[in-house]
Amino acid sequence: FWSKVTGTLDDCACDVETIDRFNNKEIFPKLQKLLSSDYFRFYKVNLNNPCPFWTDHSQCGLKYCAVKPCTPGEVPEGLKSSSYKVLESHIVDETRQALQEWKKHDDESDRFCMLDDEDSPESQYVDLLLNPERFTGYKGPEAWRIWNSIYEENCFKPYSVKRPLNPLASNSGLCVEKRAFFRLISGLHASINIHLSARYLLDENWFKMKWGHNVSEFQLRFDEELTEGEGPKRLRNLYFLYLIELRALAKILPYFERPAFHLYTGQRTQDNENKKLLLELLHVAKSFPLHFDETALFAGNNKEAMKLKEDFKLTFKNISRIIDCVECFKCRLWGKLQTQGLGSALKILFSERQIEAMPNTSNTNPSFQLSRQEIVSLFNAFGRISTSVRELENFRSLLSNLKQ
Ligand code: FAD
Repeated sequence: FWSKVTGTLDDCACDVETIDRFNNKEIFPKLQKLLSSDYFRFYKVNLNNPCPFWTDHSQCGLKYCAVKPCTPGEVPEGLKSSSYKVLESHIVDETRQALQEWKKHDDESDRFCMLDDEDSPESQYVDLLLNPERFTGYKGPEAWRIWNSIYEENCFKPYSVKRPLNPLASNSGLCVEKRAFFRLISGLHASINIHLSARYLLDENWFKMKWGHNVSEFQLRFDEELTEGEGPKRLRNLYFLYLIELRALAKILPYFERPAFHLYTGQRTQDNENKKLLLELLHVAKSFPLHFDETALFAGNNKEAMKLKEDFKLTFKNISRIIDCVECFKCRLWGKLQTQGLGSALKILFSERQIEAMPNTSNTNPSFQLSRQEIVSLFNAFGRISTSVRELENFRSLLSNLKQ
C-alpha cells in the first residue's frame, strides 16, 4: 500500500524511499541522541490551561493518560526559572541591553503558536523521556471532537457548508497554501496514530505492562483497502510534514551557528558537546538533496502573502488553544509540544529574510529569536515525525513477515 510522495503540493521530486533512507540512516540516530540530552528532555509546560471553547469538558481518568511532572531536584540548576531568567536567550556572553532589545522584539506578533507562560505557577517541567508518547486509550467522541474542531473549524473552509469538502481533493476550492495547511495537520494526526500503534499496550498484568507494535491497529488506520484509499494519503501527508520541518531546520542553521548561542543547562562540557551535535544534525538536514521548495508556499512580500501569513498564524494559534481541550494529559502534552514545534517551523519558514541577514548583523542583537520553549518543541516535534518515518519501516517488515 506504499505510495510515492510526489504531486504538486510537495514541490519536491522525492520519493518515499529517498526520505526513508535519509531519515533512518542520517537523521534519526543523531536526533535521538540530541533529544536524550538535558536541554531537550526537560520541557516546561502548563497542562492546566482551561479549555476556551466548551464547558462540558472533563478530565479523563485513564491511567495511561497521567503525566508525571519533575520534582525540583530532577531539573538541572541551569534550566530552573531563577537562573533561566537571567540567561533566557542562552546567550551567556551577551549584554543585558541586547537581551532587553530581544525581549522588545520577541513578542506575540511573531509567533504562530500560543506559548505557555513559563513563569506561571501552573507551569511545570516534564521529563519527556519518562513520559513517552504512546497508546493511552483516549478515543471516542471526546477525541473526535478535538480532531473535528481542528479540521472543520480551522482548516480554511472553502465554502460555508455543513460538512466540509475533502480539502485534499484538488477541486476543493482551496488555494495551494491552505491545502498545505490541511496536509500538515493530517500529517501530525497520522504521526500520533503511528506512535500509538507502535507503542501499543499489548499486555497488562499486576507486575508488568508490555508495550509494542500492534500491526492490526496500524492496518486499520493506514491500509489502503481498509481505509478506502485514505490511509496512504495520510502517510503522504506525514512525509509532507517531514519535509516542511526538515526545511525549517536547514534554514535555521545560521541562528544556531552564532558563537554567542549556547544550549545552556549549566553543565559546560555537556552543553558544548550538545551544540556540536546540534550543528552536525543541522548540516545533515541542509545536505538533503531534494529539499522542498518552500518559496512556492511561504515567500512573497506582497499584500496577499502578508494576508496569508496572518491567516496561518491565527488559524494555528486557534489550533494550539484547542489542544488545551484535550482531556487526556499525556495526549495534551505531546499534542501541545508538536503543535508548538510546527508553529516554530512555520515561524522560521516565514522569516527567511531575517535569518538570511543574520550573519551580516551584529551577533548581540539578531532580529530573529527563538525562545527555549520554541527550540525544545521544534526539535522534539521533528523527533516525533522522524520516529514515525522510522516506525513505518518497522511496520513494513512486520507486515512482510506476516505474509511469509
Ligand atoms: P481518529 O484518529 O480519532 O480520527 C477521527 C477521524 O478523522 C477518522 O475517523 C478519520 O475520518 C479522520 N482521520 C484519521 N486520521 C486522519 C489523518 N491522518 N488525516 C486526516 N483525517 C484523518 N491516543 C493515544 O493512544 N496516544 C496519544 O498520545 C494520543 N494523542 C492524541 C493527541 C491529540 C491532540 C488528539 C486529539 C488525540 C490523541 N490520541 C492519542 C487519540 C487518537 O489520535 C485517536 O483519536 C484515537 O485513537 C481514536 O482513533 P479513531 O480510529 O477513532 O480515529
